[in-house]
This record gives sequence, C-alpha cells and structure tokens, in this order.
Amino acid sequence: MKRKILSNRTITRLSLYYQYLSRITDKKFISSKDLAGLLGINDAKIRKDLASAGQFGIRGKGYEISQLHSSLEKVLGINRTWNVVIIGCGNLGSALLKYQGFSKHKFNIVAGFDIDKTKVNKEINGIKIYHFDLFGKFVKSNKIDIAVVTVPQEAASEVIDKVVSYGIKGILNFTPLQVYKKDCIILKTDITIEFIRLACLLANKK
Ligand code: ATP
Repeated sequence: MKRKILSNRTITRLSLYYQYLSRITDKKFISSKDLAGLLGINDAKIRKDLASAGQFGIRGKGYEISQLHSSLEKVLGINRTWNVVIIGCGNLGSALLKYQGFSKHKFNIVAGFDIDKTKVNKEINGIKIYHFDLFGKFVKSNKIDIAVVTVPQEAASEVIDKVVSYGIKGILNFTPLQVYKKDCIILKTDITIEFIRLACLLANKK
C-alpha cells in the first residue's frame, strides 16, 4: 500500500522529533506535552504528527521512546543507509565533506567530484575527490542514491543533466538554478532564502 505523502512542514517536524529523541538516553517514555515544551510546538499537533507515523501514546505514560524512534526512522526513510556524492568541492562542498554528522543519520558520503586539478585525487575527511569525468564510471560500479550539487550556477545545468542521465533519483541542489526533472526529486537548498524568511518574520514580529 502506498503511504500518504507528507507535507514539507510535517517532514520537518518529524525530523525534529527524530533528532531530539536520538539524543535521549536517560528515559523510556516521553509525553507529547514534554515534547511540546521542549520543541515549542503545540502538543495536539505533535500527537497528530506522531499518529501519522503510526504512533499513539499510552495515557499517563506517553510514547515509548525506542519504539517511536524506530517508527520515525521508517516514516522518514532513514531506516536504511543512503549513499551520497558531493559534486563541486569548493568552500561549501568541502565543508559538507568535512562534516561528520551526516553518517549518524544514515547519509554516507562516499566520494566528491570536481574538475579542478588542484582538488582532484585529494581526500577530505578520508573521502576521495574524483574528476567529474569519472562520474559515470563511478556510479555504474557504486550504488549512489543522492547527489549534492555545489558547483557554480553556470555549471549547474550540465552537471544536473549528467547526474539524472545516470539514473540518480535524488539531488540536493545548492545552486541558485531552479530545475525540474520528471524522474528525479530535486530539492533546492538556499541558505539566503532562510535568512530572508527569518528577516521577514523578525520584521513582522509584533
Ligand atoms: P563554493 O561555491 O562551494 O563556496 P567556491 O567559491 O570555492 O565554492 P565555485 O566557483 O562556487 O567555488 O565552485 C565550486 C566548486 O565546483 C569548485 O571546486 C569548482 O572547481 C567546482 N566545479 C566547477 N564546475 C564544475 C563542474 N562542471 N563539475 C564539477 N565541479 C565543478
């Protein structure tokens, strides 16, 4: 049976619960009220979200943390490992390669790609950077699920076309280019938009 498609906001909140629960080591149960107080989200909304993950609290006790954690993992698709490559190992791409936190959440960065000779064949955090010319060959012999694109805008279209042509189904696009492809989920990630969102909320705060 196909699962109901969750909205972006629900996915964001479920990820927040998941991350928070991952850090709890000293108790077995948590109530929606406790979560609400800690995360600043209405407790009725939390109960609704958790019900969408198939979890219902026990009256007077709340939710069993390990059970809730594994249901959230399943709903969020992180009950398996995802192999990731970073294309464009400049400032941003290198910072992502250096970050050790992704593997904790099942995102396994397996390689970097670039066209700059000074970067190719180097390693960052034990992860090798290959020439982008070798991308197709690499993808054919390694199961890659996600490509993170951190190339300059002028290279983005060509790089994304190539990634999609090799059958990769998920792209995290850090470039300003807005792209849609039928056979690939492309999420555009733009930190400037987050700043603008925050500025707008601050500017309109009563
Ligand atoms: P960043 O934008 O990540 O801060 P930067 O300012 O150091 O990086 P950019 O010019 O944005 O550099 O390029 C990012 C990286 O993408 C560079 O390492 C560059 O060599 C690489 N790059 C550029 N074109 C391509 C391409 N077609 N394929 C793969 N990598 C590329």
